[in-house]
Amino acid sequence: MLEIIRIHNELLGTYGDRGNADVLKYRAALRKIPARVTEISYLDPVPKSGDIYLLGGAEDAAQILSLTALRKGSVLSRAANKGAVVLAICAGFQILGSRYVTRDEEIAGLGLLDVETTPGDRRLVGDIAVASKLFDQPLTGFENHSSVTTLGADALPFGKVLQGNGNGVAGVDGAIDKNVFGTYLHGPVLARNPEFADLLLERAVGSTLSAVNDELAMRYAMWRRALIK
Ligand code: GLN
Repeated sequence: MLEIIRIHNELLGTYGDRGNADVLKYRAALRKIPARVTEISYLDPVPKSGDIYLLGGAEDAAQILSLTALRKGSVLSRAANKGAVVLAICAGFQILGSRYVTRDEEIAGLGLLDVETTPGDRRLVGDIAVASKLFDQPLTGFENHSSVTTLGADALPFGKVLQGNGNGVAGVDGAIDKNVFGTYLHGPVLARNPEFADLLLERAVGSTLSAVNDELAMRYAMWRRALIK
């Protein structure tokens, strides 16, 4: 059973990123891979048994609560070190970095990605498109954040920004380290980019997935790509 852990949706659920879990479960089922989504509240310990861990976007205060809860036990970094897949969107991505700075405070992140997030001077909001070496086609999404994220020497960007802002620094979006993926793309990103969902599933099951004809999902992805400016 593929275990998909949706972390702190009550805190990291502001932008509808909860849909990423549902897309993974759906696309796993298309391949007859049994999968379940486990909801983890910020009062619960994070299970060690997850194959895929998902974090979504949030307001700053909610994000700090989530980060504080996740620091206990360091389950996420241990799971990632053992090869579990982690997908983190916007606030979730910022949480995975080494440092998170707001106008009022500065706190250590979980340190899964070598990135630092600091306050920006304006809100970065709108459609975003990113070219990632992992995919033949650009990915599309929606962004809404005011912080900016700088990559450290050990971080690789998730992709190059074609439209929008992404990290807000150096024309790139997100960061990756093995099976840990951070990006600013809401959407939910896996609904808008089914190839990305399949890549995460492949990383989690450790083998290539069979092709499926999910025509509606592909049409939606293509329609969004055709709108890239
Ligand atoms: N609080 C963060 C920021 O504004 C993240 C926002 C979000 O997750 N969309 O930068």
